[in-house]
Amino acid sequence: MTNTYTQHTRIRPAPTVATGQSEPIPGTNQVPNSAGGFVWAVDDWTRLDRFLVLGTEGGTYYVSEKELTIDNADAVKRCIVTDGLRTVDRIVEISEAGRAPKNDAAIFALALCSALGNDATRKAALDALPRVARIGTHLFQFIAALEGFRGWGRGARRAVANWYTVKKPDQLAYQLVKYQQRNGWGHRDAIRLSHPKPATDAHKAAFAWTVGKPYEGAPRLINVYEEMLRATTEGQVIDLITRERLTWEFVPANWLGSKDVWQTLLPNLPLMALVRNLGRMTANGAVGAMSDTSNIVNRLHDQEAIHKARVHPIAFLAALATYAQGHGERGKLTWIPVGRIADALNDAFYLAFGNVEPTGKRHLLGIDVSGSMTIGAIAGIPGLTPRMGAAAMALVTETTEPKNLVMGFSHDFMPLSITAKMRLDQVERMMDNMPYGATDCALPMQWALKNKVEVDVFVVYTDNETWAGGQHPVEALREYRRKTGIPAKLIVVAMTSTGFSIADPNDVGMLDIVGMDTATPSLLADFVR
Ligand code: CA
Repeated sequence: MTNTYTQHTRIRPAPTVATGQSEPIPGTNQVPNSAGGFVWAVDDWTRLDRFLVLGTEGGTYYVSEKELTIDNADAVKRCIVTDGLRTVDRIVEISEAGRAPKNDAAIFALALCSALGNDATRKAALDALPRVARIGTHLFQFIAALEGFRGWGRGARRAVANWYTVKKPDQLAYQLVKYQQRNGWGHRDAIRLSHPKPATDAHKAAFAWTVGKPYEGAPRLINVYEEMLRATTEGQVIDLITRERLTWEFVPANWLGSKDVWQTLLPNLPLMALVRNLGRMTANGAVGAMSDTSNIVNRLHDQEAIHKARVHPIAFLAALATYAQGHGERGKLTWIPVGRIADALNDAFYLAFGNVEPTGKRHLLGIDVSGSMTIGAIAGIPGLTPRMGAAAMALVTETTEPKNLVMGFSHDFMPLSITAKMRLDQVERMMDNMPYGATDCALPMQWALKNKVEVDVFVVYTDNETWAGGQHPVEALREYRRKTGIPAKLIVVAMTSTGFSIADPNDVGMLDIVGMDTATPSLLADFVR
């Protein structure tokens, strides 16, 4: 029997709401994206996160690297005006946790804070310098940025001096020897300009060595390094590496082609150095298909060590792409890749994100495979297009969540036959061969409705440059919710550092997160829960 109340209150299904994507949805504050479609502008804090994690290298399909950098710098400046201390905190948080593939944007943003903030912000930024600039290279980047923004004030000079003096003599010597100069800046310049007051005689001697003066009483590592420079035979080099457990940066370039030198270095190579030099070691024969590689494989499977060394998943992805192709970027060095090492690099990519508890919800993962997703290099990594990054991020969720469907869309919605069982370098080749197309970010929701696929959460990996559809993505989502009765959520994973989003900021069932942030898989799962 039909319930009378229901009968009386039954409402007609609402008509399909559709606004062409080249028009804003009436009554909203949508803005035009770079492709001529209308989307929302993300707030400056979201933009800050995107910038810190994704960087601006290579620009996008629509805007140059320079333009994108200026846009992002403007967003950072607005954050500084709104709340400078919050800006500094966010920079430190993302940088220290190793959430970004590269630290460059954090250094740049910190230098902006130290130049443009109010007194409290400038002080906080300078105090945070040793936490964000953890190695000599970062310090030089900061100084170069300072020169561009504000020059050297008393506060900046003290902060740079402090970077040196807070270190214990051994740590100091390590930095001085390992990162002597980068990008036209060196410790010699930084020390001359900042005049650090040595805390001990050992500090004093270390500074003297850096500026080319007598260095009696310098920390041991400096003497070891000098001894290495004087070595004339391979045997001497190997003895020194063994005796002092040196890393490869201490070995002069003319010994770096030697198999025996690398076999000596191998057991004590820091994880990141190991990952970066796998191709080189395979080329010179220190590592090979017929040698025992279990030590290397075990290290790549050691999740705790990966986290401790703060190796970003993208580093494994980049290393895998290079290693599996069997030659370096410039093609000088060639090798026959060892399959089990490539497999272990692939495993390490997933391990580096940490463990995420599956939510058990039904996920539809929609990867934007349109033409614009093929331009730009995430965090400046050669060949890592937004499209490839999107596929890799989708596979991270695919490995944790039991109920998933991975699809690709541009002007068409198509199944993507990629699975977490595939190695990421194979996925990359597949993605490279996908046809280009126009962009319609509404397709995942429309397709699910039409095909009666029950979805709790749509995850869309995109640059938000949607324009080709006759209905906006949020209209498609609301229609899906209404017609299926499922309160489906939408998560937008931004793969470029633009200021756009297809998600409506006023809808609590929608979320913007940043692709290639190590925190993304857990943020995604938390929101779905
Ligand atoms: Ca596009």
